[in-house]
Amino acid sequence: MSQTDTLEHFRLEVSDGVATVVIDRADDDLNTLDPSLMEDFLAVLDRLENDASISAVVITSAKPDFLAGANIKWFSELTPETGTEAIRAAHAAFDRLERLHTHRGKPVVAAIHGACLGGGNELALACSYRIATDDPKTRLGQPEVQLGVIPAGGGTQRLPRLIGIAPALDLILTGKTVDARRAHRLGLVDEVVPPKLLAEVARRRAKELVGRGRPAKKPRLRDRLDPAGLQKLALETNPVGQHLLFQQARKKLLEETKGNFPAPEKALEAMRVGFHKGLRAGYDAEARFFGELVASPESKALRSIFFATRHKPDTTGARKVGKVGILGGGLMGSGIATVSALRAQSLVRVKEVDPAAAARAKAYVAKVLAERVRRKRMRPFDAEQVQLRITTTTDWSGFADVDLVIEAVFEDLELKRQVLREVESVVPPETVFASNTSSIPIAQIAAASSRPENVVGMHYFSPVEKMPLLEVVVTDQTSKEAEATAVAYGLAQGKTVIVVNDGPGFYTTRILGPYSAEAFHLLSEGASVEDIDQAIEAWGFPVGPLRLADEVGIDVGAKISVVLVDAFGDRVAPPRAMENLVAADRKGRKNRKGFYAYDESGKRGGVDATVYADLGIEPTGHISRTEIQERITLAMINEAARCLEEGVLRSAEDGDIGAVMGLGFPPFRGGPFFWIDQQGARRVVERLRALEERLGPRFTPAEILVEAAESGRSFR
Ligand code: ADP
Repeated sequence: MSQTDTLEHFRLEVSDGVATVVIDRADDDLNTLDPSLMEDFLAVLDRLENDASISAVVITSAKPDFLAGANIKWFSELTPETGTEAIRAAHAAFDRLERLHTHRGKPVVAAIHGACLGGGNELALACSYRIATDDPKTRLGQPEVQLGVIPAGGGTQRLPRLIGIAPALDLILTGKTVDARRAHRLGLVDEVVPPKLLAEVARRRAKELVGRGRPAKKPRLRDRLDPAGLQKLALETNPVGQHLLFQQARKKLLEETKGNFPAPEKALEAMRVGFHKGLRAGYDAEARFFGELVASPESKALRSIFFATRHKPDTTGARKVGKVGILGGGLMGSGIATVSALRAQSLVRVKEVDPAAAARAKAYVAKVLAERVRRKRMRPFDAEQVQLRITTTTDWSGFADVDLVIEAVFEDLELKRQVLREVESVVPPETVFASNTSSIPIAQIAAASSRPENVVGMHYFSPVEKMPLLEVVVTDQTSKEAEATAVAYGLAQGKTVIVVNDGPGFYTTRILGPYSAEAFHLLSEGASVEDIDQAIEAWGFPVGPLRLADEVGIDVGAKISVVLVDAFGDRVAPPRAMENLVAADRKGRKNRKGFYAYDESGKRGGVDATVYADLGIEPTGHISRTEIQERITLAMINEAARCLEEGVLRSAEDGDIGAVMGLGFPPFRGGPFFWIDQQGARRVVERLRALEERLGPRFTPAEILVEAAESGRSFR
């Protein structure tokens, strides 16, 4: 009996000279890499190297994924030293895998079905040949930077050498993943087959490769033919060109990350070192950088968000939703219709006020689908199928059999109540009614209902087909089934879902209130629009608060502000001068008049300096970047703490998911609560007290923070 017969995570079968290595992690339903799997892998390598009856190898998986990457739980045990050591061990193992063919003449074929990511993709890169299935679940890539680390199992070296520097940079620096067809076009996989042929074709290729070298990397035909391709080849293949490529990539990267994401910078550096000083130096850089990064606060924060979003809310008792009714086909309604038909694959009935509005809704969906087809994310036939699932109406026809209604009419309480009453007269009694309001308390809408147990909030973010979060809002009266139905449907639409308790602004809109209000306070004290937005973008938000106000609509923001001030008083009130903006008809992007200037086509230009005259202020620029950052972010974070204290939030974890996925809170800070824990509640309270003293009670720290500072407890 050989050693490999007793392995925990692998099976190895040899027949007719071909060894099939099956990855099958014993303790998980996913294949992930960690020291325990690596240990077994070394035993597999021993056998493959030494067993003379083996002349070729196929590596495949018994799980729905091939190898999904490193086991991220293991990351939290690592220090810079042990992290670096683990990477060196992985390098040695993958080198042995590669040498099976180059030194021992035993070709290795990776037979890939399902996720082949991170360390999984790096293992595949060390093989001689890669075959992937055309199944939509098959995804390849190096998503490490999304968790604050870099591809360190040789990925920064082997990937650019296989597919070219520019395409490798694109994958590695963004962490995006590709399907098999895209991977084939990139040269990342050699062949694409239907799942049922995978095993057979892999065996055949393994045998065919015996006695031949590793298939040579050929420049893609397109690159050899068109002038742009030729230029690219020239850049890629000479040292000066390479230097230029890395330099350009670095500049572009820093513009995007503002230095806040160390991981992509390090990945880029490891690639550069590899081309400049050779493979060995490249691997060495990978190992050192990985060690540094895996123990960094940024990576810990990103991992905490990753874990939090994997933890899904309860859907027990959810009713099946085969058909959904949507009221209002504006921006939100059309977006909701899109994800309902596309992701949840349900029938969708959209009701609008007139045929023209209904046509606009359909056109919106068609545009999103056409874009997906254009980007080859979808086949034209499938796009047509999605479009066919959506029908529109201007009366209540087709509503008698809907399981869920989501209303997205104008943000007006009376209108929402009225449509709710109308809905209840046409739908079955068990149909769930969800409002996509962003600020009106659900209980106020449900007050018009004859069955308030079926009423919930489903708060989407714009644009719905892109933004990942759904905030489900429940009242005291909402039934468990209605809640579960909304949650399950949101998950089916591909959303990350948090459930919060009802209240003005729920969670996300509410914490945005003091955040925006503080930006306006700073503005009225003389900070410039640029200073404010740039400070907050430098802190890590994708857009600053004033640009956000322009996007959301200054008028919409003002309406929401009224709701919040009604409920929470002066604490969340913007300064008076802000009313002038609405009076001056500044609505933001939609009427091309806001904090920023817009041209005819709606393209945003610089700050519209006339805004200062409307506000009756002159920017003095005397407020420091740190003060701007501290005041605006602490206003939001303190409000988040209040939401937890009052039970609007069910957990700190939900608060972090909501802020990161819904509002763009910097993911590398992990969300408001993760950030408080990292800073220490005591320090946060001290800063708030200092601001309170200077600026008044709007900065009084939330009770729950004071308590955490005293007890030393953490939130996450
Ligand atoms: P949002 O950006 O939130 O989607 P819009 O103003 O773009 O807001 O969309 C609201 C849509 O709701 C409009 O297209 C409007 O015609 C539609 N609408 C208003 N009242 C009703 C109603 N009673 N039934 C159906 N649709 C309605």
